Amino acid sequence: MTSATPKLEYRELGNTGLKLSCVGFGASPLGNVFGGVTGEEANAAVREAFRLGINFFDTSPYYGGTLSEKVLGNALKALGVPRNEYVVATKCGRYKEEGFNFSADRVTRSIDESLERLQLEYVDILYCHDIEFGSLDQIVKETIPALQKIKEAGKTRFIGITGLPLHIYTYVLDRVPPGSLDVILSYCHYCINDSTLEDIIPYLKSKGVGIVNASPLAMGLLTESGPPEWHPASSELKSACQAAATYCKEKGKSIAKLAMQYSLLNKEMTSVLVGMKSVKQVEENVAAATELAASGIDEATLAEVEAILKPVKNQSWPSGIQQS
Ligand code: NAD
Repeated sequence: MTSATPKLEYRELGNTGLKLSCVGFGASPLGNVFGGVTGEEANAAVREAFRLGINFFDTSPYYGGTLSEKVLGNALKALGVPRNEYVVATKCGRYKEEGFNFSADRVTRSIDESLERLQLEYVDILYCHDIEFGSLDQIVKETIPALQKIKEAGKTRFIGITGLPLHIYTYVLDRVPPGSLDVILSYCHYCINDSTLEDIIPYLKSKGVGIVNASPLAMGLLTESGPPEWHPASSELKSACQAAATYCKEKGKSIAKLAMQYSLLNKEMTSVLVGMKSVKQVEENVAAATELAASGIDEATLAEVEAILKPVKNQSWPSGIQQS
């Protein structure tokens, strides 16, 4: 990076003391979740991320059936960056072959498996992955206490929960002792088409948890090439996002850049975690952040895109099981 290149902003994550780059590297694409990626492409994307100041990497055993963890681990090892210069988050309780298992026994084995695949001695954050698919009472009574033991054993520095419906956060945080959880990772709820995460920010801050905002591109909805085939949005939401992307393209603008900038504008969310699989995407997403810092967002295009998306604003999709 030359001295003229604007630096990425770093923001503090809740009470953890961690300072995360405002653009985080979502590594689910390294598990071929959004199309194939070679080891070389993955290594190059991770190398470029470091070069441009990204220090936060997020993966899970679920992504690509453990592939994402392995590919990220290899890329980090190949780079040889000192361990205290980056933050790695992984997850437990959701697996491609096994499905969901939030038992204390499974999550306790899970972290050892993840550390081996990542070739690390510890991760910085360990989340229970997509808890709405388990019993929330089990998460409160069994899984979080198991994660706390993993933390005490030094295998993770901090612990958290992830999932789609926002009520899971209040349900769990209302039932665990204060300070039990360090972080929450929410996805698809703070992007141009859905900003509902904003409503619970004061609550989350009152509980002292750090906030990671994943999927600023709504898992591909807010890109020119559109979402992957498995995307759970309704056809109405997909069509509206496609219309917004076409509008931007015709004006010579990038919907992905606008969407990144929209999410980055809210500084309550420490890091905007975007899924990346190429040097080009890393460069574009970092440029979105540095250009935002230098010259602000394109208000006129944002207003047009928001108008196109207004009929589907805050529309989500079902996720999880009926809680008893
Ligand atoms: P996203 O909104 O970040 O979109 C990713 C898609 O956008 C991919 O197809 C990627 O190739 C593409 N893309 C990235 N940069 C682009 C650019 N500049 N131009 C055009 N296309 C671009 O969705 P995501 O990857 O699902 O979310 C980000 C990360 O957050 C994930 O990789 C994962 O690490 C994490 N996440 C966690 C959970 C969870 O814990 N439940 C859920 C969703 C995401």
